[in-house]
Amino acid sequence: MRILFVTTEAVPFAKFGGLGDVSGTLPVELAKLGLDVSVVLPLYRHARANAERLEPTDLTISIPLGETPSAARVWRSNMPNSDVPIYFLEQNDLYDREEMYGLKGEEYEDNYRRFYFLNRGALELARALGIGFDVVHVNDWMTGLIPIYLKTIFKEDPYFKETVSVFTIHNLGNLGLISRKNFELMGLSGRPEVEEMALDGEICQLKGALIYSDVLNTVSRQYAKEVQTAEFGEGFEELLRSRSDDLFGILNGIDCSIWNPETDRLIPFNYAAENLSGKAACKAALQRENGLPERGDVPLLGIVCRLSEQKGLDMLVEVFEDFLALDVQLVLLGTGVPEYEDFLRDAAERYPTKLAANIKFDEPLSHRIEAGADIFLMPSRFEPCGLTQMISLKYGTVPVVRRTGGLADTITDYATTNLEEANGFSFNSMQGRDLLACTKRAISLYQDRAEWKRLMLNGMKQEWSWRKSAREYVKLYEHALSRKFAVMGPSNG
Ligand code: ADP
Repeated sequence: MRILFVTTEAVPFAKFGGLGDVSGTLPVELAKLGLDVSVVLPLYRHARANAERLEPTDLTISIPLGETPSAARVWRSNMPNSDVPIYFLEQNDLYDREEMYGLKGEEYEDNYRRFYFLNRGALELARALGIGFDVVHVNDWMTGLIPIYLKTIFKEDPYFKETVSVFTIHNLGNLGLISRKNFELMGLSGRPEVEEMALDGEICQLKGALIYSDVLNTVSRQYAKEVQTAEFGEGFEELLRSRSDDLFGILNGIDCSIWNPETDRLIPFNYAAENLSGKAACKAALQRENGLPERGDVPLLGIVCRLSEQKGLDMLVEVFEDFLALDVQLVLLGTGVPEYEDFLRDAAERYPTKLAANIKFDEPLSHRIEAGADIFLMPSRFEPCGLTQMISLKYGTVPVVRRTGGLADTITDYATTNLEEANGFSFNSMQGRDLLACTKRAISLYQDRAEWKRLMLNGMKQEWSWRKSAREYVKLYEHALSRKFAVMGPSNG
């Protein structure tokens, strides 16, 4: 099976959130199962800097933008520790920028154009490579035009006649809205499909992808159910319910060559379930580097996330004073909405012995927090999958989460189950006081060292392997192909 995996992030070349982790690992795991996978990514400034053995190919593709075609040179490297090719589209006006999506929580105004270029470019690249891919796997609205092109302009193209599209919803909150005027540049004007993509007077790329992809999936079973309800469906619940036979949920895994406390080179001391002394040393080091009193007995809470509404920070803000009145310390790492950034910077000044706010993107520090904290806080309003709670489990850092999406699928509450299965704490409501109560439950158990250790070990022993998820993706691709050929009939198949 030949798979073209198109994405706007992939570790180690470019990462903003979980999509980067997923795209960095899944293609390689699919290749290990015998699939022929190619990845496409924009040649961002930092991708150029991060890519080893990045080489120009002799391919230049032409991408129509309104009346004027624009050229992109194609570069190539390999996904880490594999021979899976990753192709980079070079367009310096669009991609040679400080950030991937925008500055200070504001998207770049021309993102529609930047990602159109990727969508159309990926298909032109497939043609230029001369490969008829069986599956084009796309991710979120930024690559959501591809399924529409495959059903319209490229439908009869010999390279794509038998191609199916798989759309993974990593985040239904991002709509990818474009004005009708800008959409005219994309070569689809006047087509009936465009009207189906209309939303509030604009064109919604996410909606188009939800309608026109052959198969849809989200990144946990629970979130696949939730998006079919008014509470989480962002207005697409009816559409998603109508496609429930084609809507799947496959939990992400974590890459244990990156996230493993026994081998992680980004943490000061390695440790394993059999010997946790390194974890205590990581905690002390984290307290030191964050200017917090070096106390082994105080529960150290960690947060690593995009500072967005999704992550439930308003619940924390709501009860902040009560929260920090507890005998706890909190180390936070994140960037995003300026109001949250300001609030946290200010709070860190007011509570210097309790709170350290690292307002930045810092990959090594994210590892040190996962290793050094005792408890990981993740009160997300919605969470399609969530990787950081799984990483925390692996590092013996007990998660406190809101019971939603992938968090519900991965965290089993201490109180509601026997200790054999419990791996964390969870609460239901979107109220700050319930987050506070849940955290209090965790810190109260923290005092019982033997019981706490058993809880930590339960999490550390769990497997969140990509191999299992990759096998489910193969089944998903097979399902998509069998559906298409059933519709086309045997003569075409
Ligand atoms: P999402 O995809 O919604 O951002 P996930 O939990 O799925 O959330 O994945 C987030 C990923 O991004 C994790 O690998 C996390 O460690 C990383 N991350 C988030 N914010 C930062 C930051 N400020 N610095 C370093 N890594 C971060």
